[in-house]
Amino acid sequence: MQTEDPRVSDALHDAAEAKNDAYAPYSGFKMGAAVVTDSNAVVKGSLVENISLGLAMCAERVALFSTVANNSGKPEILALVSRRTDGQLTWPCGACLQVAMELGGAELLVVASDGKNTETRQLKELAAHLPHKK
Ligand SMILES: [Zn+2]
Repeated sequence: MQTEDPRVSDALHDAAEAKNDAYAPYSGFKMGAAVVTDSNAVVKGSLVENISLGLAMCAERVALFSTVANNSGKPEILALVSRRTDGQLTWPCGACLQVAMELGGAELLVVASDGKNTETRQLKELAAHLPHKK
């Protein structure tokens, strides 16, 4: 599903900035995210790795959690920019989808971009059966 929501381009711009700021000295797989909320705040998140590898945190969850910390409103768009994974656009991992479902709900738009090509899906298309609030 493609969207004409004009906020998507702002989110992709900020996600690309966040990608450049990612701290990924171990994988080199820089990822950035940006969340647009119902108050039109744009909240960035960058992948942050650690020498203790299990402590890494995805860019998407950094951005989603930051909407709570900054009282920025309900997430409506989650944009992600990174290089491709196995030739495919990189979509959020299961943990990030679950957090997005909790905070944004099934109607949230998820936008994946490699900097050239972009695809958009509703969260419910990516994660139809995740536990969620009614
Ligand atoms: Zn993730």
